[in-house]
Amino acid sequence: MGISTINLLGDLLGSIVSGEIEVIDLAQPLNENTPVIQLPEPFANTAGFKYNRLSTYDETGPAWYWNDFSMGEHVGTHFDAPNHWISGKGKDGVDSIPAKKMIGEACVINVTKKCEENPDYLLTIEDILRFEEEHGSIPENAWIILHTGWGKYGQDHEKFFNIGEDGQPHTPGFSKEASRFLANDREILGVGVETVGTDAGMAGTFDPPFPNHYYMHEAGRYGLSQLTNVDKLPTRGAIIIATPLKITEGSGSPIRPIALVARQK
Ligand code: MN
Repeated sequence: MGISTINLLGDLLGSIVSGEIEVIDLAQPLNENTPVIQLPEPFANTAGFKYNRLSTYDETGPAWYWNDFSMGEHVGTHFDAPNHWISGKGKDGVDSIPAKKMIGEACVINVTKKCEENPDYLLTIEDILRFEEEHGSIPENAWIILHTGWGKYGQDHEKFFNIGEDGQPHTPGFSKEASRFLANDREILGVGVETVGTDAGMAGTFDPPFPNHYYMHEAGRYGLSQLTNVDKLPTRGAIIIATPLKITEGSGSPIRPIALVARQK
C-alpha cells in the first residue's frame, strides 16, 4: 500500500470523525410493524419481520439478552439481486455480487412535487435527460435514487400503500421506457426508491408486468427499496454503501444502507 493510499483513507476517516463528511442512515426501522408488500391471489406472499425472544438476562440466559428473528428476503429496507426476476434468472444472487458493486454515487432525481399531485407518477426519459442537463451525466456505478417523498410514510401503512377506491396501491415509480433507458443506456449499479418495491403500485398491470424489475435485473442491475432520509442527500456527490447479507443464492436481503455526504464547514 503506497503512502498516498494511506493518506486517502486516513483523510476519509478524519473527515468522518470531524463531521466534514456526514454519514446518513437510509434504513427504515425493522420490526413487526414494518410494511411488507402484499401480492394479490394466487401469488405467495412474503412473511414480515418477526421476533422470537430467547433470553432477557433471565434463567434462559442470566447475563445476556438476545433474540432470533424471521423475515423474508424482501422486507423493510432491502436489496434486490438480479436473480430475483425471471429476466435475470442465472445472474447474480446477493452472495455473488462483487462487493465493489455495492458502493456508488447517489444521483437523486427529485419528483416529490409531481408525486404530490399524482401518486401514480412514473419517471420519464425526459426527467432523466433534464436531470443530466442540470447536474451532469449519470456516472458509472451510480445509484439512481427516485425521490418521491414516500419515505416519510414508512410508519403509516395507509399512506405508504395508498390503496385507492379501486382496491389498488397508488404509489409512484418508473415508466417502462425510463427503466429500459437507465438499465441499458447508462452504466448504473441500479435504482433506489422510498416505496415498498422498485416498481410503481400499479405496475402489475403494465406490459411487461413490473417493468422496472424486468429491465433492471435483465441488465444485471440492482434495486434498493424502502429507503428513508433521501431528502438529506445532495442531488449529486453522496456515496451510498448498500451491502446485502451473503445469503447463498439469495434473491434479496434486508440492508442498512449508509450515505457519505460532504458538508461545507
Ligand atoms: Mn424486493
